[in-house]
Amino acid sequence: MSDSYDVVVIGGGPAGYPCAIRAAQLGLSVACIDNWLNRDGGHAFGGTCLNAGCIPSKALLESSELYHRAQHEFATHGINISKASLDLAAMQKRKNDISGQLTGGIRTLFKANGVEGLPGTGSLAGKGKVRYEPMEGEARELSAKHIVIATGSKPVELKKIAPFDGDRVVDSWGALDFESVPKRLGVIGAGVIGVELGSVWSRLGAEVTILEAMPDFLPMVDQAVSKDSLRQFGKQGMDIKLGAKVTGAKVMKSKVSLSYELKGEEQSLDVDKLIVAVGRAPNTDNLGAEEAGVERDDRGFVVVDENYRSSAEGVYAVGDVIGGQMLAHKAIEEGVVLAEQLAGHKGVAVNYNAVPCVIYTSPEIAWVGMSEKQATEAGFEVKTGQAPFAANGRAKALEMTAGMVRVISDVKTDRILGVHMSGPYVSELLAEAVLALEYGATTEDVALTMHSHPTLSETLHEAVLSVDGLAIHAVNKKRGK
Ligand code: FAD
Ligand code: NAD
Repeated sequence: MSDSYDVVVIGGGPAGYPCAIRAAQLGLSVACIDNWLNRDGGHAFGGTCLNAGCIPSKALLESSELYHRAQHEFATHGINISKASLDLAAMQKRKNDISGQLTGGIRTLFKANGVEGLPGTGSLAGKGKVRYEPMEGEARELSAKHIVIATGSKPVELKKIAPFDGDRVVDSWGALDFESVPKRLGVIGAGVIGVELGSVWSRLGAEVTILEAMPDFLPMVDQAVSKDSLRQFGKQGMDIKLGAKVTGAKVMKSKVSLSYELKGEEQSLDVDKLIVAVGRAPNTDNLGAEEAGVERDDRGFVVVDENYRSSAEGVYAVGDVIGGQMLAHKAIEEGVVLAEQLAGHKGVAVNYNAVPCVIYTSPEIAWVGMSEKQATEAGFEVKTGQAPFAANGRAKALEMTAGMVRVISDVKTDRILGVHMSGPYVSELLAEAVLALEYGATTEDVALTMHSHPTLSETLHEAVLSVDGLAIHAVNKKRGK
């Protein structure tokens, strides 16, 4: 085995493994070092996303949603079943199997594309050099023309208030692995993880309270959509307390006692398990970044230019470790674009104005581009359109009529600036909106596009039509408003 490569990628998550594969497809010799260890002590490529993030959380969201629907909705469809019962061990096994199948697939892809997959830890060891410590055997030095840091991120710990103990106070990974449904579940942080994992355990029977420090709920989402979603979550029984400042968490034998401030008053809450989901921090410890001259910002993210070059020559970084939106598809795009650039392709770039975002709750929340507030603050004169799923035949057939689509567009050019929505499968509807933004489409372009009937996409069509007061199946705003 040669120890000299065109590209050595450190990190085999959504940023690293696609970067390695594309670089190899374009004729470069590539190694990808990754040190993810699963609970069973086994290594798996795929990083946070496949092992402890996107995939296992979506598996549990799907299973818990089915369980909830079986209990609460089947009778409406005229289907009577004897009381649904939960086999959590089987649900968890299914989740783990899905992750295992996908992470195993990366090994196959590496083989097929000629990428050297190296389980172990990588660190920068001088210009063009990477120290590789395998999971078994002696450390050795690899040389590389290009070194890519794709080491991802880890959960932020509230060390002083509620440190992780792996049992009662857990991070998102711990919260995906509960072996029984906690009776009372506390969550610190009503961000994406807080509401997704709060939903899972709420559907499975936990009494969920989420404490969020900020006064606004999901501030990146258009206000009409976030407000409506907050109401829906409340109806489902999740108690989301905004403006709640957690001051302490006392771990006792059988519970965690939380204290927090709300509207100037000291409050307390006892829970059986506590999830801390207050954001993620970059993985740059023990990477040799400082010695190698790789600049990091005050939060530890690697600083890169528009071509993902760090301050050290020949060292690049992509994915969560450079900050921005911490999303798997953003990481994938960056990894692939960087690989293309390393292979000499010019003019390839990520369009950060059209990054799709999804929260896989029920209703799902999905958006791309600016909210009405962001567009106004950016100086646009905006016009908006809106349509509810309550008027959509397919949504009625699905018994999923909560939510809406909102379209934000520029008065001067009619260009669509953003699409924000909540409702059934809006994660899938979002692709049309992303394409519209990517192509610089106007509302007229989408209005003149035929949408099949009856589908959920008709609500997007209606929202676009309503921008100019032309929706057929939704009540239009009075013109001029
Ligand atoms: P990571 O996935 O963190 O991968 C980095 C890899 O590098 C890891 O395997 C790590 O072990 C390895 N590594 C670190 N240091 C070293 C070293 N020195 N040597 C060798 N290897 C090293 N995003 C979405 O888009 N959709 C979702 O639905 C979604 N759901 C999520 C749910 C949860 C619960 C969480 C926590 C995250 C979720 N995310 C989701 C975010 C997504 O997981 C991340 O944005 C994505 O994994 C980032 O990819 P990455 O490759 O940059 O980092
Ligand atoms: P987040 O940034 O989405 O939310 C963290 C929340 O915690 C914020 O609302 C913040 O105001 C709040 N918070 C921070 N400190 C607090 C404190 N001391 N007390 C109470 N509240 C506090 O972060 P996350 O939910 O941990 O998710 C991490 C990353 O993972 C995100 O960037 C997200 O994009 C990604 N992720 C994506 C998906 C998805 O795409 N569906 C799913 C899960 C995670």
